[in-house]
Amino acid sequence: MRLKIYQTGEPVLRRKARPITVDELSGQPVQQLIDLMRETMRDAPGVGLAAPQVGVSIQLLVVEYTPDLLQGLPLSVKEERGCAPVPFQVIVNPVLTVKPDAGEATFFEGCMSVSGYAALVRRPLAVRVACLDEKGERRTIDAEGWYARILQHEVDHLLGTLYVDKMYTRSLMTRDYYLRNWHTKSLGEEEVDRFTTPEGEAP
Ligand code: ZN
Repeated sequence: MRLKIYQTGEPVLRRKARPITVDELSGQPVQQLIDLMRETMRDAPGVGLAAPQVGVSIQLLVVEYTPDLLQGLPLSVKEERGCAPVPFQVIVNPVLTVKPDAGEATFFEGCMSVSGYAALVRRPLAVRVACLDEKGERRTIDAEGWYARILQHEVDHLLGTLYVDKMYTRSLMTRDYYLRNWHTKSLGEEEVDRFTTPEGEAP
């Protein structure tokens, strides 16, 4: 069964989600929600899904980057974006900290709750996430590259933040245009400047 993915405009996407207790996490309703979120993410397909995106305002998210999803990308692009497979993970009550020394990078991003669009977002390249897993065990995740980007995007959902709040507005494009023109292309500084700086102005 696939859950309905709420679209931007729905107030639940702009609310701060509440943390859940270990008791609540181990209960049937939340365990069932986890199963359904996994199916919904895989079916979409997407690489992450946060509970508010299916209308539930709790601090729960799932991520997974399967080798299948990576297949269409040239090796050079995978390396540039720092894309690598991420096994299925359940992340509960996350606290995310940025590792500032790792630097930042700008790439296109989309969101299942802002259906049909993509835009450039600048984000830190490495993060640490302290959280619980689906069994309520404490976990510390150190993530770099695209994995770090996925985690930042999903944790933002729990704070009521969407990527459009952080995007370079001049880079907004339809998902269709993105897939046809940019999905498999390398993105250098020059291209980023072209999207982020009005013509005739210094970047
Ligand atoms: Zn999203």
